[in-house]
Amino acid sequence: MPDPTWQSSLDFLRDLPGVPAAQANAITLAQARARWQHAVIARTSMHDLWFTLPGEDYPFASSVRVQTAHGRHVLLRWDHDRLAEEHATDSDHIDEMLDSFLERLTTPALICRHCGRPVTVSSDQFEAFERMHYSCFHYLFEHDPFDPDEECTAGGCPSASIGPGQRPEEPRDSLVEELIDDLMASELGTASVEVRIERRGPGIIAASFDANTYLITVRTESRRR
Ligand SMILES: [Zn+2]
Ligand SMILES: [Zn+2]
Repeated sequence: MPDPTWQSSLDFLRDLPGVPAAQANAITLAQARARWQHAVIARTSMHDLWFTLPGEDYPFASSVRVQTAHGRHVLLRWDHDRLAEEHATDSDHIDEMLDSFLERLTTPALICRHCGRPVTVSSDQFEAFERMHYSCFHYLFEHDPFDPDEECTAGGCPSASIGPGQRPEEPRDSLVEELIDDLMASELGTASVEVRIERRGPGIIAASFDANTYLITVRTESRRR
């Protein structure tokens, strides 16, 4: 069966004047058309919009679905057969929300060069972690010589939640707090439109100024070494 065109999906919905969800979906589809009709296939049923990638056949591994009922929309995105995100919104925000979902549908996933799986949680810091998951990066470069199941001293260790004992509060923690304040007030911080400074773990700060992220690690080392 050939892929439906945006026009045929629109016609189908507009032929259902007695179905409010179909009419709401027709408006959403018409709004998105100029930007997306050449990038994704618009499929539809009475209550759902369903967007898939060109060249993909049923069953579609990656798709965006919009379920509409009673003036509410639920957007769902599947990425390689996995439900990647789900968000509910109203008719005032459906257009921009759909835009960002389709943006992610059409952007190829970031793949960790260490384990080969998609990177989602730390995708903002993909380059900073050398194109890896933060966990993959940490165990590869920062964790030795500790047992993988015990918290190391590098800061931000994922094993902190499972390993023996919790790391006690140390002077380094207050140093990290001060650094965060300094980074906020820095020249780069005040000159940037979008600033995001996060504590990635006990000793790791990820500072994003507009397009760039800087990773700062504070670790305690004895002077006698
Ligand atoms: Zn990985
Ligand atoms: Zn570690």
